[in-house]
This record gives sequence, structure tokens and C-alpha cells, in this order.
Amino acid sequence: MLAKRAVQYAKGIRALPPYLFAEIDLRKERARKKGVDIIDVSIGDPDLPTPPHIVEALYHAAKDPENQRYPSYEGMLAFREAVAAWYQRTKQVTVSPEDEVLTLIGSKEGLAHAAFAFLEPGDHALVPDPAYPVYHNATIMANAVPHAVPLPEDHDFKPDFDRLDKNVARQAKILFLNYPNNPTAAIADEAFFKAVIDFAQDNELIVLFDNPYSELIFDGYESPSFLAVKGAKEVGIEFNSLSKTYNMTGWRIGYAVGNADILKGIRMVKTNIDSGAFQAVQEAGIVALSGPQDCVSQNVAIYQRRRDILVEGLRAAGLDVEKPHATFYLWVKVPRGFETAASPSIEFSMILLEQAGIVVTPGVGFGKHGEGFVRFTFCNSGERLAEAGARIQKLNF
Ligand SMILES: *Cc1c(COP(=O)(O)O)cnc(C)c1O
Repeated sequence: MLAKRAVQYAKGIRALPPYLFAEIDLRKERARKKGVDIIDVSIGDPDLPTPPHIVEALYHAAKDPENQRYPSYEGMLAFREAVAAWYQRTKQVTVSPEDEVLTLIGSKEGLAHAAFAFLEPGDHALVPDPAYPVYHNATIMANAVPHAVPLPEDHDFKPDFDRLDKNVARQAKILFLNYPNNPTAAIADEAFFKAVIDFAQDNELIVLFDNPYSELIFDGYESPSFLAVKGAKEVGIEFNSLSKTYNMTGWRIGYAVGNADILKGIRMVKTNIDSGAFQAVQEAGIVALSGPQDCVSQNVAIYQRRRDILVEGLRAAGLDVEKPHATFYLWVKVPRGFETAASPSIEFSMILLEQAGIVVTPGVGFGKHGEGFVRFTFCNSGERLAEAGARIQKLNF
């Protein structure tokens, strides 16, 4: 008889943090089975459909046999040209479609592969905390060391480079950043970007700037590109995506723009792992980026209305919330009374689930500096968000 062999996962996989939301998922399922009317505001995934003209473009492009073959690794030149034109038009940033644009199978793919392109075992990466978990986890999978850079509330959820250990900064090889920010909804301005560039120059860092919320902007706010600031292209690249702008999360299409040498590193990883984005999806992406943009403003108007409904409801419930100028997130401080809990953000999330049927994400899931907050999203209808507010108003906490 063959002995059963123990499967040994690779070190980088074993070192991944445990999945924090397992307990919440379990309780959510249990509540759903009991017939509780669940309002899920925990997921950052648009509930609105992809605009029909983009779906139509995919339909036509999929029928072309040319598009059914292996695509090129760096993406179709026509898609990269559409990206370059979009950056010129909306962000006043000039990039060459030849070597300063790289097509990605969603920006998540590029962010994770960037870790493999630049980090050797034992190298350090500066990872914001709280943050989108991919930065931390891709660093771990590359057997490198993530170093948490706190995003303090008293610094508008931006890193304070003066408070960072000088040796840690010097030791690090890459810096991840993301504004407008998931999960805090914080925004950044040109002065901050200048400080980032100086910091990167001083410490010889590669800046990986993640910008998927650049178009989900409210109240006339214009979200600047990191690359619009002088010197940015010498130190970094910017990731962007069609996912959130055009409700295309399922399509897996994004891109990175900026420093050609940095992009080349990611391209080398991709060449050996994937074979590029489906050309029909790139064709539809061209239509999204180059076609009429009123679908984006309609989207934004919907989110802005939802934001106002949710903020109003939560304020009426006595919660301390500010209206964000971008993203579809609300970063809400856990109310008083939870200070003694092992994790106030998990405890408060459990109360919302068990007593109101509302699913939010505990802030600690985005890193230990996310403790003390929970994240709501606007990826649910105005009616449901109003209902969520009404239910929370009835709670005693
Ligand atoms: C949604 C999201 C992404 C991923 O976008 P895809 O292009 O769909 O992979 C990347 N970064 C952040 C911060 C996000 O919230």
C-alpha cells in the first residue's frame, strides 16, 4: 500500500496570513439559512452592469478568429494607444504606447507580479497599513519582507515619511501606494506626491502607485495621477483598471503606465506565467476608454447619491462619518463601548451582522492599523443602503 504523503506547501504560501473573514462568512451563511434578510455592504465589486456598448464590442470582437489566438504579452498596440490617449486626455500625462504602457489581466495581476519582478528573498517592501491585501501577500509569496507603513488618521490616512525608521526606508526596495484609497477613501494631492518622489529618490525606491478609483470622484473633485508630478516617471509606475470605472471587474482588464524599465520587469514575469489578456476583451477595452464617457458620469452620480444616503443614515445612528470625495467606500470609526474587545472592529462587525443583518468588513482585515474602523461599500442600491441606516439607528451600542 502506498503511504499517504503529506502535501508540503511552499514557504511563501505557508507564510500567508490566515483568512480573517472566515468567521464572518460562516455567520453570514448561518444567518442567511435562518432566513435573515442580509444587506451585504462588505464587497468592493460594482453591482451595476457594464455599459451595453462595451458588451456589444466584446460580442463582435469575440467572433473574429484573429482574436481567438494567443494575444501578445504586452497587449495589443491599439489598446496601449487607447490607454496613452486616455492618460493624455484625462490626466495630462504623456506616455509612449510602445514601452510605457503594459496591458494587464486586471491590475491585481500586475501588482502581484511586480513583487516577483523586484523582490528577492529577504528584500523589504514598504506596504501601507491598512491596505488592499495584495501588496502584503504578494510580498510574502515572493519570500520578501513586508514592512507596514501606518496610515494614521491624524495624517489624513497618508504615510508620514518623517515618522518612518530611516534604516527601514533605506533597506526597502519598493513602496506600494494607493490614492484614492481603499479602504479609507482618503485622497492625495500634488504636494504629497512630491514628498513621495523625494522619499523614493532619497531611498532608491520603486514606487508602485495603484489608482483604480481615479474616476470614482465626487463633488467636482479631480483625482490627479501620480505620474502628472515631475520626476514621478523616474521612480515609478501607476496601475489603473477598467474594473471600477466601467463596472468591468469580471472582465479582467487593467494596465500599468510609466517607467519603461519597471514595466519591463513585470513583463518578463508575465511572459513566463500568462499569455496576455484576451484580445476581444482588449478590443472592448478600447471602446470603453475611447468611446462616450457619459456612462462614467452616470455611474458616479449613482454612487454619489448612495454615499449621501448611507452617510445620512449612519450619522442619524450616531456614527462619526465624513463624506468621502472618492471611491465607493465609507471608513467608519467603531463607536465607543468596544474598547475592551480583543478586536473592536470584528466585535462591532459581528453586532451589525447578528443584530441588524448587515455585513461590513472589519478594519483589522486590512492590517493592524485598520483596527478601530469598519468599511462599508456603496455597491448596493440606495433603498438597501437606506434600510441599512434605518436598522443601525434601532441598535443600542
Ligand atoms: C479593486 C482593486 C484593485 C483590483 O482591480 P482589478 O483591476 O480588478 O484587478 C486593485 N487595487 C485596489 C486598491 C482595488 O480596490
